[in-house]
Amino acid sequence: MSTSAGNIFLVTAPSGAGKSSLVNALLERDPGLQLSVSCTTRPPRDGEVDGKDYWFVSRERFIEMRDQSDLLEWAEVHDNFYGTPKGPLADALANGRDVILEIDWQGARQVRRMLGPVTGIFILPPSMEVLEQRLKARGKDSQEIIGRRVAAASSEISHASEFEYIIINQDFSVALNQLEHIVAASRLRFPRQAKVNPALFTSFGLS
Ligand code: GDP
Ligand code: ADP
Ligand code: 5GP
Repeated sequence: MSTSAGNIFLVTAPSGAGKSSLVNALLERDPGLQLSVSCTTRPPRDGEVDGKDYWFVSRERFIEMRDQSDLLEWAEVHDNFYGTPKGPLADALANGRDVILEIDWQGARQVRRMLGPVTGIFILPPSMEVLEQRLKARGKDSQEIIGRRVAAASSEISHASEFEYIIINQDFSVALNQLEHIVAASRLRFPRQAKVNPALFTSFGLS
Protein backbone atom coordinates (compact mmCIF):
# COMPACT_ATOMS: atom_id res chain seq x y z
CA MET A 1 0.00 0.00 0.00
CA SER A 2 1.42 3.38 -0.96
CA THR A 3 1.33 6.16 1.60
CA SER A 4 2.45 8.69 -1.03
CA ALA A 5 1.19 11.90 0.56
CA GLY A 6 -1.20 11.39 3.45
CA ASN A 7 -0.25 11.07 7.10
CA ILE A 8 -1.47 8.13 9.16
CA PHE A 9 -2.58 8.75 12.74
CA LEU A 10 -3.17 5.84 15.08
CA VAL A 11 -5.35 6.62 18.09
CA THR A 12 -5.40 3.95 20.79
CA ALA A 13 -6.84 3.89 24.30
CA PRO A 14 -8.55 1.61 26.76
CA SER A 15 -12.32 1.52 26.35
CA GLY A 16 -13.90 4.62 27.93
CA ALA A 17 -10.81 6.86 27.80
CA GLY A 18 -12.59 9.14 25.32
CA LYS A 19 -10.98 8.07 22.06
CA SER A 20 -14.11 8.15 19.89
CA SER A 21 -15.38 11.44 21.40
CA LEU A 22 -12.02 13.12 20.78
CA VAL A 23 -11.61 11.73 17.27
CA ASN A 24 -15.17 12.67 16.28
CA ALA A 25 -14.68 16.23 17.57
CA LEU A 26 -11.38 16.49 15.70
CA LEU A 27 -12.99 15.26 12.47
CA GLU A 28 -15.62 18.00 12.72
CA ARG A 29 -12.93 20.66 13.04
CA ASP A 30 -10.52 19.34 10.42
CA PRO A 31 -11.91 18.56 6.96
CA GLY A 32 -8.47 17.34 5.84
CA LEU A 33 -8.82 14.29 8.04
CA GLN A 34 -10.67 11.10 7.23
CA LEU A 35 -11.64 8.31 9.62
CA SER A 36 -10.86 4.74 8.68
CA VAL A 37 -14.13 2.92 9.38
CA SER A 38 -13.33 -0.47 10.87
CA CYS A 39 -15.25 -3.70 10.46
CA THR A 40 -16.39 -5.40 13.62
CA THR A 41 -18.36 -8.40 14.77
CA ARG A 42 -19.48 -6.49 17.89
CA PRO A 43 -23.21 -5.70 17.86
CA PRO A 44 -23.99 -2.00 17.30
CA ARG A 45 -24.51 0.13 20.41
CA ASP A 46 -27.57 2.35 20.64
CA GLY A 47 -27.10 5.18 18.16
CA GLU A 48 -24.19 3.66 16.23
CA VAL A 49 -24.59 3.85 12.47
CA ASP A 50 -23.42 1.15 10.05
CA GLY A 51 -20.77 2.60 7.75
CA LYS A 52 -20.13 5.61 9.99
CA ASP A 53 -19.05 4.21 13.36
CA TYR A 54 -18.23 0.74 12.06
CA TRP A 55 -19.15 -1.71 9.37
CA PHE A 56 -21.09 -4.19 11.46
CA VAL A 57 -20.55 -7.63 9.99
CA SER A 58 -21.19 -11.26 10.97
CA ARG A 59 -18.35 -13.47 12.16
CA GLU A 60 -18.59 -15.44 8.91
CA ARG A 61 -18.30 -12.30 6.78
CA PHE A 62 -15.39 -11.06 8.87
CA ILE A 63 -13.49 -14.32 8.45
CA GLU A 64 -14.20 -14.23 4.71
CA MET A 65 -12.81 -10.67 4.46
CA ARG A 66 -9.76 -11.62 6.50
CA ASP A 67 -9.08 -14.71 4.40
CA GLN A 68 -9.48 -12.71 1.16
CA SER A 69 -6.84 -10.25 2.48
CA ASP A 70 -9.39 -7.41 2.47
CA LEU A 71 -8.08 -6.27 5.88
CA LEU A 72 -4.87 -4.35 6.49
CA GLU A 73 -4.81 -5.61 10.06
CA TRP A 74 -7.19 -7.36 12.42
CA ALA A 75 -7.35 -8.31 16.07
CA GLU A 76 -9.61 -9.96 18.62
CA VAL A 77 -10.50 -7.43 21.31
CA HIS A 78 -12.95 -8.05 24.18
CA ASP A 79 -14.12 -11.28 22.45
CA ASN A 80 -14.99 -9.54 19.17
CA PHE A 81 -13.09 -9.24 15.90
CA TYR A 82 -12.04 -5.80 14.64
CA GLY A 83 -10.24 -5.00 11.40
CA THR A 84 -9.23 -2.18 9.09
CA PRO A 85 -10.53 -2.48 5.50
CA LYS A 86 -7.66 -1.92 3.06
CA GLY A 87 -9.50 -0.31 0.15
CA PRO A 88 -10.82 2.97 1.61
CA LEU A 89 -7.53 3.61 3.46
CA ALA A 90 -5.46 3.09 0.32
CA ASP A 91 -7.75 5.42 -1.68
CA ALA A 92 -7.61 8.17 0.95
CA LEU A 93 -3.81 8.07 1.22
CA ALA A 94 -3.39 8.00 -2.56
CA ASN A 95 -5.54 11.16 -2.71
CA GLY A 96 -3.23 12.86 -0.21
CA ARG A 97 -5.70 12.76 2.66
CA ASP A 98 -4.66 12.23 6.26
CA VAL A 99 -6.31 9.22 7.84
CA ILE A 100 -7.07 8.39 11.47
CA LEU A 101 -7.25 4.80 12.60
CA GLU A 102 -8.92 4.12 15.96
CA ILE A 103 -7.44 0.71 16.61
CA ASP A 104 -6.11 -1.33 19.51
CA TRP A 105 -2.39 -1.77 20.31
CA GLN A 106 -2.18 -5.10 18.45
CA GLY A 107 -3.50 -3.45 15.29
CA ALA A 108 -1.20 -0.47 15.80
CA ARG A 109 1.82 -2.79 15.83
CA GLN A 110 0.70 -4.47 12.61
CA VAL A 111 0.12 -1.15 10.84
CA ARG A 112 3.60 0.10 11.83
CA ARG A 113 5.12 -3.11 10.46
CA MET A 114 3.28 -2.75 7.18
CA LEU A 115 3.15 0.99 6.54
CA GLY A 116 6.28 2.32 8.24
CA PRO A 117 6.22 5.81 9.73
CA VAL A 118 2.94 6.69 11.39
CA THR A 119 2.00 9.01 14.24
CA GLY A 120 0.81 7.02 17.24
CA ILE A 121 -1.26 8.71 19.93
CA PHE A 122 -2.31 6.94 23.13
CA ILE A 123 -5.18 8.40 25.16
CA LEU A 124 -4.99 7.86 28.92
CA PRO A 125 -7.86 8.43 31.36
CA PRO A 126 -7.01 10.55 34.43
CA SER A 127 -7.39 7.41 36.62
CA MET A 128 -8.83 3.90 36.56
CA GLU A 129 -11.75 5.10 38.72
CA VAL A 130 -12.64 7.82 36.21
CA LEU A 131 -12.40 5.30 33.37
CA GLU A 132 -14.97 3.06 35.05
CA GLN A 133 -17.22 6.03 35.85
CA ARG A 134 -17.15 7.12 32.20
CA LEU A 135 -18.03 3.67 30.93
CA LYS A 136 -20.98 3.59 33.34
CA ALA A 137 -22.06 7.15 32.48
CA ARG A 138 -21.89 6.38 28.75
CA GLY A 139 -24.69 3.93 29.48
CA LYS A 140 -24.20 1.85 26.34
CA ASP A 141 -22.76 -1.38 27.74
CA SER A 142 -24.00 -3.91 30.29
CA GLN A 143 -22.38 -4.11 33.72
CA GLU A 144 -20.72 -7.37 32.67
CA ILE A 145 -19.18 -5.84 29.53
CA ILE A 146 -18.02 -2.78 31.49
CA GLY A 147 -16.37 -5.07 34.05
CA ARG A 148 -14.49 -6.93 31.31
CA ARG A 149 -13.34 -3.67 29.70
CA VAL A 150 -12.10 -2.22 32.98
CA ALA A 151 -10.28 -5.50 33.70
CA ALA A 152 -8.56 -5.30 30.30
CA ALA A 153 -7.59 -1.62 30.67
CA SER A 154 -4.34 -2.13 32.63
CA SER A 155 -2.87 -4.48 30.08
CA GLU A 156 -3.85 -2.11 27.24
CA ILE A 157 -2.31 0.83 29.08
CA SER A 158 0.95 -1.13 29.47
CA HIS A 159 1.45 -0.61 25.71
CA ALA A 160 1.29 3.19 25.91
CA SER A 161 5.10 3.42 25.66
CA GLU A 162 4.89 2.10 22.07
CA PHE A 163 3.25 5.38 21.01
CA GLU A 164 4.89 8.70 20.13
CA TYR A 165 2.38 10.87 21.99
CA ILE A 166 0.35 10.58 25.17
CA ILE A 167 -2.77 12.64 25.83
CA ILE A 168 -4.35 12.56 29.29
CA ASN A 169 -8.04 13.13 28.70
CA GLN A 170 -9.06 14.98 31.85
CA ASP A 171 -10.46 18.26 30.54
CA PHE A 172 -12.03 17.43 27.15
CA SER A 173 -11.27 20.75 25.44
CA VAL A 174 -7.62 20.67 26.58
CA ALA A 175 -7.24 17.12 25.28
CA LEU A 176 -8.88 18.04 21.97
CA ASN A 177 -6.51 20.98 21.58
CA GLN A 178 -3.54 18.74 22.26
CA LEU A 179 -4.76 16.29 19.61
CA GLU A 180 -5.08 19.12 17.10
CA HIS A 181 -1.55 20.28 17.86
CA ILE A 182 -0.13 16.81 17.27
CA VAL A 183 -1.88 16.65 13.89
CA ALA A 184 -0.63 20.14 13.00
CA ALA A 185 2.96 19.34 13.98
CA SER A 186 2.94 16.08 12.02
CA ARG A 187 2.00 18.00 8.89
CA LEU A 188 5.19 20.08 9.25
CA ARG A 189 7.57 17.13 9.20
CA PHE A 190 10.24 17.32 6.52
CA PRO A 191 8.97 14.54 4.20
CA ARG A 192 5.44 15.91 4.21
CA GLN A 193 6.58 19.50 3.59
CA ALA A 194 8.82 18.28 0.75
CA LYS A 195 5.86 16.48 -0.85
CA VAL A 196 3.52 19.43 -0.51
CA ASN A 197 6.06 22.08 -1.65
CA PRO A 198 8.17 20.35 -4.32
CA ALA A 199 9.06 23.47 -6.32
CA LEU A 200 10.20 25.45 -3.27
CA PHE A 201 12.25 22.54 -1.94
CA THR A 202 13.89 22.02 -5.34
CA SER A 203 14.68 25.75 -5.60
CA PHE A 204 16.54 25.51 -2.27
CA GLY A 205 18.30 22.32 -3.27
CA LEU A 206 16.39 20.35 -0.65
CA SER A 207 15.19 16.85 -1.33
P1 GDP B 1 -14.54 1.45 22.82
O1 GDP B 1 -13.13 1.08 23.08
O2 GDP B 1 -15.36 1.63 24.05
O3 GDP B 1 -14.68 2.56 21.83
O4 GDP B 1 -15.22 0.12 22.22
P2 GDP B 1 -15.18 -0.49 20.78
O5 GDP B 1 -15.99 -1.75 20.87
O6 GDP B 1 -15.60 0.53 19.77
O7 GDP B 1 -13.65 -0.87 20.54
C1 GDP B 1 -13.03 -1.90 21.31
C2 GDP B 1 -11.54 -1.98 20.96
O8 GDP B 1 -11.32 -2.39 19.60
C3 GDP B 1 -10.77 -0.67 21.11
O9 GDP B 1 -9.53 -0.96 21.73
C4 GDP B 1 -10.56 -0.22 19.67
O10 GDP B 1 -9.41 0.58 19.55
C5 GDP B 1 -10.37 -1.55 18.97
N1 GDP B 1 -10.60 -1.45 17.53
C6 GDP B 1 -11.60 -0.81 16.88
N2 GDP B 1 -11.46 -0.93 15.54
C7 GDP B 1 -10.33 -1.68 15.34
C8 GDP B 1 -9.65 -2.14 14.17
O11 GDP B 1 -10.01 -1.90 13.00
N3 GDP B 1 -8.54 -2.90 14.36
C9 GDP B 1 -8.08 -3.20 15.60
N4 GDP B 1 -6.98 -3.93 15.68
N5 GDP B 1 -8.68 -2.78 16.73
C10 GDP B 1 -9.79 -2.04 16.60
P1 ADP C 1 -13.82 5.37 23.96
O1 ADP C 1 -14.11 5.60 22.52
O2 ADP C 1 -12.36 5.53 24.28
O3 ADP C 1 -14.37 4.09 24.50
P2 ADP C 1 -15.78 7.49 24.48
O4 ADP C 1 -15.35 8.56 23.53
O5 ADP C 1 -16.99 6.70 24.15
O6 ADP C 1 -14.54 6.51 24.81
O7 ADP C 1 -15.93 8.19 25.92
C1 ADP C 1 -16.40 7.45 27.02
C2 ADP C 1 -17.39 8.33 27.80
O8 ADP C 1 -16.68 9.37 28.48
C3 ADP C 1 -18.41 9.03 26.92
O9 ADP C 1 -19.67 9.02 27.57
C4 ADP C 1 -17.85 10.44 26.76
O10 ADP C 1 -18.89 11.38 26.57
C5 ADP C 1 -17.15 10.65 28.11
N1 ADP C 1 -15.97 11.53 28.06
C6 ADP C 1 -15.00 11.56 27.11
N2 ADP C 1 -14.05 12.47 27.41
C7 ADP C 1 -14.41 13.03 28.59
C8 ADP C 1 -13.84 14.05 29.45
N3 ADP C 1 -12.69 14.68 29.16
N4 ADP C 1 -14.50 14.38 30.58
C9 ADP C 1 -15.65 13.75 30.91
N5 ADP C 1 -16.25 12.80 30.16
C10 ADP C 1 -15.64 12.43 29.02
P1 5GP D 1 -14.08 -2.38 0.64
O1 5GP D 1 -12.70 -2.18 1.16
O2 5GP D 1 -14.19 -3.72 -0.01
O3 5GP D 1 -14.61 -1.24 -0.20
O4 5GP D 1 -15.06 -2.40 1.92
C1 5GP D 1 -14.64 -2.93 3.12
C2 5GP D 1 -15.65 -3.90 3.63
O5 5GP D 1 -16.77 -3.19 4.14
C3 5GP D 1 -16.23 -4.80 2.58
O6 5GP D 1 -15.43 -5.93 2.39
C4 5GP D 1 -17.59 -5.14 3.13
O7 5GP D 1 -17.62 -6.32 3.87
C5 5GP D 1 -17.88 -4.04 4.09
N1 5GP D 1 -19.04 -3.37 3.60
C6 5GP D 1 -19.16 -2.67 2.46
N2 5GP D 1 -20.40 -2.18 2.35
C7 5GP D 1 -21.07 -2.59 3.45
C8 5GP D 1 -22.39 -2.41 3.93
O8 5GP D 1 -23.22 -1.75 3.31
N3 5GP D 1 -22.67 -2.97 5.16
C9 5GP D 1 -21.79 -3.68 5.86
N4 5GP D 1 -22.15 -4.20 7.04
N5 5GP D 1 -20.53 -3.88 5.44
C10 5GP D 1 -20.19 -3.34 4.25
